[in-house]
Amino acid sequence: AAVGDKSSARGASKAGSDPEMVTMNVSVVLFTSDLRLHDHPPLRAALEDGREIVPLFVRDPAVDGAGFAVPNRLAFLADCLSDLDAGLRERGGRLVVRHGDLVGEVCRVAAEAGADEVHMATDVSGHARRREDRLRRALEADGVRLHVHDTVNVAVAPGAVAPAASDHFAVFTPYFRHWSQQPLREPLGAPRTVRVPDGVGSGSLPSRSGLAGLSEGLAAGGETEGRTRLTAWLRDELASYEEGHDDLAGDVTSRLSPHLHFGTLSSVELVHRARRAGGAGADAFVRQLAWRDFHRQVLAARPDAAVSDYRTRNDRWRSEAEAREDVEAWKEGRTGYPIVDAAMRQLRYEGWMHNRGRLLTASFLAKTLYVDWRVGSRYFLDLLVDGDVANNQLNWQWMAGTGTDSRPNRVLNPVTQAKRYDPDGAYVRRWVPELRSLEAPVVHEPWKLRGLDRAAVDYPDPVVGLPDGLDRFKRARGLG
Ligand code: FAD
Repeated sequence: AAVGDKSSARGASKAGSDPEMVTMNVSVVLFTSDLRLHDHPPLRAALEDGREIVPLFVRDPAVDGAGFAVPNRLAFLADCLSDLDAGLRERGGRLVVRHGDLVGEVCRVAAEAGADEVHMATDVSGHARRREDRLRRALEADGVRLHVHDTVNVAVAPGAVAPAASDHFAVFTPYFRHWSQQPLREPLGAPRTVRVPDGVGSGSLPSRSGLAGLSEGLAAGGETEGRTRLTAWLRDELASYEEGHDDLAGDVTSRLSPHLHFGTLSSVELVHRARRAGGAGADAFVRQLAWRDFHRQVLAARPDAAVSDYRTRNDRWRSEAEAREDVEAWKEGRTGYPIVDAAMRQLRYEGWMHNRGRLLTASFLAKTLYVDWRVGSRYFLDLLVDGDVANNQLNWQWMAGTGTDSRPNRVLNPVTQAKRYDPDGAYVRRWVPELRSLEAPVVHEPWKLRGLDRAAVDYPDPVVGLPDGLDRFKRARGLG
C-alpha cells in the first residue's frame, strides 16, 4: 500500500526556499521485528532506484512499558542491533537508533533526512496495527508516503488463506493443508551497498553490559549468529529432527526461535532452505514453522486472544494470590516433579525452554495446579528470549484448553511424560543436581525412595498429588 502524495513531499516544500536543498530520493527503512539484511523486502524496495536510505530502529517506551522489554530480550536485541549496524557499515551505511514514541521519531527522522517515503513491514498484534495506522496518518500529514510490505516474519501472511465462512482458521490441520499449497516468494539477497545521507545523527546503540537479571546461559543474538546457527543446524541436526524433536535430553531442535522472533532470520528463507535440504526432518521442521504462522493468523483475527480466553471454558482459575505457594514452587523449579522442575530451571538458566518442557510445565500450572494461564504466560514472557505474544499466549491457551486444541480437557501427566521424553533421566539430572545420583525410572519419581535412600536426596515432596490435582481440575470444569 502506498499512501501520500509525492508532489507535496517535504523535500518539495523545501524547494521553495532553497532549490539546492531538494532531496527527493531519500527513504527511511524502519526496522521492527526484522533485524536483518538478507531477505528484507522493505530494505530492498527502498534501495531500488539507487536511493539513499536511513535504516532506522526506534526503541519505543510504549513497548517497554507493556512489559515486553525484559532483560533477556533486551540483551538479545542489543546484539541484533550491533550486528545490524556492523552489517550496514560493511556496506557503507550505518544504523540510526532513536528512543521515543515510534510515530513521532519516524516523522522526525524523515524530516531530518528530507525523506519522502518510509518503508516498513506490517505486523499482526493489535498494538502494532494501531501504531501503523497512527504512523500512516502522521506521515501523510507531512506529505511522506508510507510503504507497507509483507507481514513481518511469516512465510504465509495472516488472511492469505482462510476458510470460506471465517476470517481465520481455528484448526491447524486444514490450515496447514492450505498453507503448504501457497506459493512462496524467492528469498532476497542482502544489499551490496547502502548509502546513508549525512546530517542524520546515529544515536547510541543499546548494549548488553549493565543489564541486570540476565539468564546465565543466554544465547547470543544477531543475524550473523543466526545464519551461522541455521547453516550448522541444517547440516548436522535437521535429519534427526523428526525422530528427535521431543527428546528433551537430545536437544536437537533448531533453537532458532529467538532469531525468528527478532527477525534476524526470515521464515520465507527458512522454509526454502529446509525444503531444499529435504527429507522427513525438513517436513517436520516446516510444519513447526507453519504453527508459527497459524498462531499469527489467529492473533491477527482475534487480537484480544493475547489476554482473554479464545474459547472460554468458564474457568474460575486460582489467582496467583490464591495459589501463592504453588506458583512460587512452579516458578522456582521445586514442585517435587523432577521433569517440571528441570524444565523450569532450564527456563531460568537459559531464557529458553525445550518445546516439550513448555507443554508439560504449562499443563502442570494451568491444569494440575489449576492456576490462571495468564500467570504462567506472564512468567514465561518475563524470561523467554523468544517471548512472543502470538506464540506464547496462544500456546498457553492451547495447553489451558481455552485455545484451539480440540481436546481442551486433556491433562499431561508429568511422570508419564518424563518416562516417554526423558527415558534415561539425563535431562532431569542435567538441570536438577539434587537428583544426579539417581537413575531412571526413580529419578522421575523420587518420592518412591524409602528410608535412607530418600533421606539422602535433598529434594521436595510433590506440591500436590496427581490424582488430587486431576480431581480439582475435573470438578472445576464440571467433568464429573
Ligand atoms: P523448533 O522445534 O526448531 O521449531 C522451529 C520453529 O518453529 C521455532 O523456532 C518456532 O518459531 C516455530 N515453532 C515451533 N513450535 C511451535 C509452536 N508450538 N507454536 C508456534 N511456533 C512454533 N515459541 C516462541 O517462539 N515464543 C514463545 O513465547 C513461545 N511460548 C510458548 C509457550 C508454551 C506454553 C508452549 C507450549 C510453546 C511456546 N512456544 C513459543 C512454541 C515452541 O515451544 C517454541 O517455538 C520452540 O520450543 C522453540 O524452539 P526451537 O526454535 O528449537 O523450535
